Parts: sequence; structure tokens; C-alpha cells
Amino acid sequence: MTSMRPTPTVLVLATLVVRGIAAPAVAWADDDVGAAALSVDEVARTQCSAAAVRPLSDQLLAEVACLRPGVLAPIDDIPGVELGINAAPLLDAAAARALRAAADGSPLWIYSTTRTLAQQYVYHHWYRHRRCPSVVTLAAPPGRSNHESGLAIDVPEYAAWKARLGAAGFRWLGRRDRVHFDYRGRGAVDLRRLSVRAFQRLWNRNHPDDRIREHGRWDTATARRLARAPADGFAQGPTCR
Ligand SMILES: [Zn+2]
Repeated sequence: MTSMRPTPTVLVLATLVVRGIAAPAVAWADDDVGAAALSVDEVARTQCSAAAVRPLSDQLLAEVACLRPGVLAPIDDIPGVELGINAAPLLDAAAARALRAAADGSPLWIYSTTRTLAQQYVYHHWYRHRRCPSVVTLAAPPGRSNHESGLAIDVPEYAAWKARLGAAGFRWLGRRDRVHFDYRGRGAVDLRRLSVRAFQRLWNRNHPDDRIREHGRWDTATARRLARAPADGFAQGPTCR
């Protein structure tokens, strides 16, 4: 379970903070020389935006799709849905179908969606070390967050959406994390282990002399490699072969 700010008002402020910091980070990420130097751990220690790990996150999501074709589906084409600046445009396919039915064209802002292992590493580092408290107040360890399951969404206007999302199979987490909903309906597939395995496969593909086990569990060996992984993505990206 992970919480960005607990109330809609503060969420808006947090997003402004993220937007303010994200712009130079994104521009910087376009710089081949600079981006190549940043590891995931360096992003966690030096920035208050996860924008810099987006290229690696894109690779991780594509690798998940290779491991289990069709398990993720787009949500950025749902009429009315607007996604947060660092929210992946993908959910578990069944959750995406349910969301499409629930939204039904109404304006729906979703602050956070499916997270990759790299994003969760950054958020959890901030939470543990009390960095960037205006962005993250609570974050589960990598491999444990509901958002890594591909089934979770954070909806700032949760009160207005509880009934419709609930009827579509999304369970509201409650007062501890008011913006958070988990899809528990038909066809839900928890992607957490697949998400860890996607990183382990990408690491091994790029480090044949430093291979780790591809068991899908978050362990010390995986944590050490993720810390060193390039935020702007591996040289050898996802492959479905
Ligand atoms: Zn959440």
C-alpha cells in the first residue's frame, strides 16, 4: 500500500510540487550524456520526482507484457480520464475494462496507477529517509505495493467516485489511504511477482556476468542491482522471445 497525499486539497499541492520539479528533470533526461549517468538509487537520493526513472519503467512494463501478453491494457484512451504526470497509462486488463465502464465519459482524475519496481524503489526511499515529504507520505517496500499489482488507482476526488468505482469492482481502502482503490472484481491478476521478474530478466540480459535468480521475489540481490540500474533504461531493452 502506498499513499500520496491523503486529501484532495493536499494532493493538488503535491502535484504542483511534482510538476515544478519535473520539468527540468524531464529536459535533463533528454540529454544523453547526463541521463546515462543516473542510477535508480541516485534518482532516489537526489530528486523529488520519479520522472527520471520513466524510461526504465517503460522497459519494465513492456517486459511484463512480454512475460504475460494481454495482461496490461491502456487507460489513457478512456474518455474523461486524466492521469497524473508520472502515472503509467496502463492497468491490469480486467481493471482497465472495469474502469472504462465506471468512468462512462465523466471527468476522472487518477493521480497514480500501475507502478514499476523502479518507481516504488524511489518512493520507498523517500518514505524511509523522510525525503520529499510533500510528495510521498507512505510507501510500501518494492515488490509489496498494491500499485505494483496493476490493480490500484489513486483518485483524489474519491468521495464522488466511491459508489461508481465500487459498483465496478474497485474496493476503497478506507481512511488510512483515502484516495486508494484496488480492483477486486472478476479477472483480476496481481502482477507484483511478474513485475519483479521483469526487472530480474532485464538485468540478466544486460549483465550476463552478474546474473541473479529470476524467481520474481524481492530480495537483497535484486535490491542491489535495482539500485545500480540505469534510470534511462538498459542498453538491451524488453524482448518477447
Ligand atoms: Zn494508492
